[in-house]
Formats: sequence, structure tokens, C-alpha cells
Amino acid sequence: MGRAMIIGAGGVATVAACKMAEAPEVFEEVMIASRTKEKCDNIIKKINKPNFHSAQVDAMKIDELSALIKEFKPDLVLNLALPYQDLAIMEACLKAGVSYLDTANYESPDNPHFEYKYQWAYDDKFKSAGLTAILGCGFDPGVSQIFTAYAAKHYFDEIHNLDIVDCNAGDHGKYFATNFNPEINIREITAKGKYYENGKWIETEPLTIHRPIDYPEIGEKESYLLHHEELESLVKNFPSIKRARFWMTFSQRYLTALEVLQEVGMTSIEPINYEGKEIVPLQFLKALLPDPSSLGQNYKGKACIGVQLKGLYQNKERTYFIWSIFDHEKAYKETGTQAVAYSTGIPAMVGAIMYLKGLWKKPGVYNVEEFDPDPFLETMPKFGIDWHEAIDIVLPIDK
Ligand code: NDP
Repeated sequence: MGRAMIIGAGGVATVAACKMAEAPEVFEEVMIASRTKEKCDNIIKKINKPNFHSAQVDAMKIDELSALIKEFKPDLVLNLALPYQDLAIMEACLKAGVSYLDTANYESPDNPHFEYKYQWAYDDKFKSAGLTAILGCGFDPGVSQIFTAYAAKHYFDEIHNLDIVDCNAGDHGKYFATNFNPEINIREITAKGKYYENGKWIETEPLTIHRPIDYPEIGEKESYLLHHEELESLVKNFPSIKRARFWMTFSQRYLTALEVLQEVGMTSIEPINYEGKEIVPLQFLKALLPDPSSLGQNYKGKACIGVQLKGLYQNKERTYFIWSIFDHEKAYKETGTQAVAYSTGIPAMVGAIMYLKGLWKKPGVYNVEEFDPDPFLETMPKFGIDWHEAIDIVLPIDK
């Protein structure tokens, strides 16, 4: 049916590639291109299929990347590298005349701040080129918005309150490690919290708002309010929303270690001079921490991500909870990675199927909630992620 090019060769790319190999009728030829070619080759060795190819590329070099895209001629480029590369890869896609998909909102390396405006600004260019850009097609961002679109389509006339809840109750046995790229992860967690209420964004000091939330198959876990990128697109695309929040769990040990690292300056992105060489403390810390794609082997336990909604249906109050559960050991058995990479790589690959089948194909730049959620949620369980729903219940967030 089509050709796909994956950029990046980390945990998320590994999962997307492994799952693409399970759908050869859709993914006829796949290229994995990243800064370190050896990592692409290692993924391909594991997959062991002749229709997977590798290449070395620095995605920040737009001409180099667009030349590679033109040579391989994919129908879709999946950006599974880092948020820093989003704009360069979008530019290269425009230059090569190929559609685009990513899993994380653009961030500039020297400003830990994310906003969709930089990527939304490409809408006219993608429209006039007749190309599609699908933004944020991981789990959260990604399936969290697809869940919301599904709820809006089938269960609500108006959504008023939205709470995205993300709990990783797994244990990898390391003292301190992040579940995806440490630099991106620590920047996100140490940033100020933010939520939306009655038309305004309210900023909070990092990790100051927290409460226990009950998670299916896991139980009660302390959950912390964070700013998360999909809140920005959800309140734009569902204007009836009055309050939108995002919650994530952290263990006390993780938070204590993070606080110490922060206090001694190890999470700073300001370069310092060390023995005549300029280093960025957070990048140095990343080099010391376990590679997230190596955590899978000893990871045990479950994770749950879902969306809890309140609103109106036929003039009556309605509540709705939709969620998925992930098992770290199952993720490792299937792909050799932990559940966080698994929960991101599968939606990216299912998003690619939606595009290649022509179901999510329209010129312009879109967040995933702007497409039909039904075929996506029908397809995702076939590749390993099931989902569950409960209607008109007391929401766990209200207990
Ligand atoms: P990793 O750090 O494991 O992998 C990133 C990969 O990108 C590496 O292979 C790296 O290559 C490559 N890369 C970095 N810079 C460049 C460049 N200039 N040119 C080409 N390749 C480059 O990240 P993850 O797999 O954990 O995460 C991938 C993405 O998924 C990130 O954007 C992350 O934010 C996002 N994510 C989204 C989630 C969601 O639910 N939506 C959840 C988790 C992650 P090298 O090894 O050579 O440095």
C-alpha cells in the first residue's frame, strides 16, 4: 500500500518499526534514518525483514534530509526523533513533497517551552502543497485527543470538564531513570504547571498541585498537575470545554532525586564552562542516566492513561471515562522496549496506517482530534493496545 520513512532510532522508533513489520500489506517498504546509523541497523537486525532499510541523516540539515526523502520516495515521514527537529523535518517534507507525522510538539533546544503556534503556522504551506501534517500522534499527546474526539462524536453534545490522567505504576529497578528521552522528560516536569479554566490559562509552580487519583487495575496514586501540549489544541478544537487539566503520577523517590538534581543545577539548560569545554548540565545528566530504551528488560507492572470527561448529552449531565492499560512485560516481550515507548510507537504507526489508507488524509496541518477517531480506535487493538470505557459513573477524579 505504501512506503514510510521513520526518523529517529530510539525506543519509540523501535516500537513503530516492529509493529510496521506486522503489517506488510500496509508498509511495503520502510526506511529508518537517524543520526546514528548503527541504531537503525540494530532495529532492522531485530526485525529481520528485507523491506526495511537504514540511512544516516542529521534531520536538522534540511537539504540533506529532503535529498534522502526524495531518494527513498516515502508516502509519509514519521518524525520519531526529538521535538527540536519538528520544524526542520516539516520543512524537508515540504521541499520533498511528502506528508508528515510526529508525536511531540516543537520545542527550541534553548527554551523549555512548547506551543503549537510554530507548527500551526505551516498550515497554509501544507495546504497549498496538497500535503498532510499529523501532529502529536503518540499516546498523550495523541490517543488522549482521539479518545476525546470519540467521546465528543458518540457521547456528548458539549464537553465541559476534561482531565487527562497518566499513571505509570511500573518499576524498572533503577534508582532514577526517565521513561523517554531524559532531556525532554525533565524539561517537561520541571516546567511550570498550567491548566485551562473559563477561557483563561492558569499557571502554577512546578508540581505544586497534586492529589490521589484511583487508576483502573492499579489503584490510588498521587498525581501531579502538569502542563501538557494537547490541552492547547483540545480547548481550541472543543470550544465548549470550560476546564482542562493534565495529571501524571511520580513516585516520591523520583521526585526527591529530581529535587536534588535541580538544586545542584544538574537539570539546567544553561551552558557552563567545565575545564575549558562548554557543557549543558542537562545534556551531561542525560549521558549519565540509563537509556530509556534499555529499561524494558527488568520493567514490571502496569501503566494506565485515560481521559475523564464531564458535560451534557440531550440536556442531561453526563460523565465518561475512556482509558488504556499497558503492561511493561508484555511490551518488552513484543518489542524489546518498555510500555512508554510501546504506548507511543503503536499510535504513531496506527496514525501512519490511517494516512496510507487515505482515512486521515487532507491538505493542511492537523492535530489528531481533527480526524475521524473511529477507524483509529478500531485498528489500535489489533496491534496491542486495547481500550475501555465507562459511561455515567462517578469519575475517579471526583472521588
Ligand atoms: P530517544 O531519545 O530514545 O530517541 C530519539 C532518536 O532521535 C535517537 O535515535 C536520536 O539519534 C535521534 N535524533 C536526535 N537528533 C537527531 C537529528 N538531529 N537527526 C536525526 N536523528 C536525531 O527518544 P524516544 O524514542 O524516547 O522519543 C521519541 C519522541 O517521542 C520524542 O520526540 C518524545 O518527546 C516523543 N514521545 C511522545 C510521547 C507521546 O505520548 N506523545 C511519549 C514519549 C515520547 P541519536 O541516538 O544518534 O542521538
